[in-house]
Amino acid sequence: MLAYGNVLDAIGKTPMLELKRLDAGPCRLFVKLEFVNPGGSIKDRIGLAMITAAEREGKIRPGGMLIEATAGNTGLALALVAGQKGYRLTVVMPDKISREKIFHLRAMGAEVVITRSDVVKGHPEYYQDVAERMARETENAFFVNQFANESNPRAHEETTGPEIWEQMAGKVDAFIASVGTGGTLSGVGRYLRSRNPALEIVLADPEGSVLAHYVETGELGALGSWLVEGIGEDFVPPVCDLSIVSEAVTVTDGESFAAARELLKVEGVLGGSSSGTNLSAALRYCRAQSTPKRVVTLLPDSGNKYLSKMYNDYWMIEEGFIEREHHGDLRDLIARPHAENAAVVVAPEDDLLIAYGRMKLYDISQLPVMADEKVLGIIDESDILLAVYGHEDHFKDEVAAYMTTELKIVSPDASIKSLVPMLDQGFVPIVMAGENFFGVITRIDLLNYLRRRLEGRR
Ligand code: PMP
Repeated sequence: MLAYGNVLDAIGKTPMLELKRLDAGPCRLFVKLEFVNPGGSIKDRIGLAMITAAEREGKIRPGGMLIEATAGNTGLALALVAGQKGYRLTVVMPDKISREKIFHLRAMGAEVVITRSDVVKGHPEYYQDVAERMARETENAFFVNQFANESNPRAHEETTGPEIWEQMAGKVDAFIASVGTGGTLSGVGRYLRSRNPALEIVLADPEGSVLAHYVETGELGALGSWLVEGIGEDFVPPVCDLSIVSEAVTVTDGESFAAARELLKVEGVLGGSSSGTNLSAALRYCRAQSTPKRVVTLLPDSGNKYLSKMYNDYWMIEEGFIEREHHGDLRDLIARPHAENAAVVVAPEDDLLIAYGRMKLYDISQLPVMADEKVLGIIDESDILLAVYGHEDHFKDEVAAYMTTELKIVSPDASIKSLVPMLDQGFVPIVMAGENFFGVITRIDLLNYLRRRLEGRR
């Protein structure tokens, strides 16, 4: 292969991988590694196609502004293409999108507008409505509108579909995809069906989305919420052709995250959250077959974008996807138990710079000060602030000189209620039984616990 002359030439032609270690029943399961695209996702294909088509149709002029509503990846794809072609870009995203994508977008020079994720189409603060309105009110702006832009499914019909057909040597029995806009499912599905009329097309839909129910009943069911990013819908997008779907599979967030984590452990492939949804549905489909089939699904983006979420055990525990041992007492509120070596602590002789660095790295506001398995004190942000304000050289002083030694020790069987006044006064309850230190409970730990209770989880 010769060197490319421009990053846009590296879009598409992604590898296909057979998953031989996961149990696919009588079937052979293949995944197309779309995260290999230079913008990190399958959306590069449509980013390039939609901008090229708009140029051809005279809808954008040199130096023009593009506006788009996106869960992130289309934004990144557009930023990549816009950057190379000299357009400005504003993306409007719902507020549940991971920080990695937002940092990535800003680093590529896009302007990012965050809006509500708890409202549906038609609400003035819904991300797609916000983007449309901004485009209308901005001169020389083009609303890319991937949900209704025919270049979106066409890009998949012309590139993704034929690549799959060729990589599978013309033998594909089933194709499984989730739907964000439906561009992938409709474009790839149409192409593969044109080559194999008996092809089964399976929709993988997050629980809470209305699409699986729509496929099964023809009606939009009740809308729920889900954490998997980029897929699932509250409406059927104009470019989404659900009439080609043979069967729909509903996948919970927990199943999606578990499948993605399993994929990494067993096959060494770091996929994103919708990759987990696709894989979970594909494995379920494969295992339910009674005859051998060649099955294809996609890994739309990389797990790199979700390292702080589904690949982070603490996040998984906080969200209730990983079950910890249940004690029925205050130990259940400790986010970072000492017994798991998870408590972030400092030693009394460490300097304040070290304490500050750990707080920043772990995004926490206080640290137990420990020596020989004993808690000697607590150092928090305000202790450090008071120490170094006007005396920056004190960053080099020992923690022991500034830590609080007035400790609030609570036993595991104390009540949750007893924590509230301590937290209110700025203390950090330390859970101990005798000499045995279990961990600390912070305000956010208690908030997380109460939120889990609200949702019926422990
Ligand atoms: N996975 C991820 C991570 C996505 O960002 C998207 C697009 N929003 C999809 C899957 C679904 O692709 P499509 O829009 O083609 O349905």
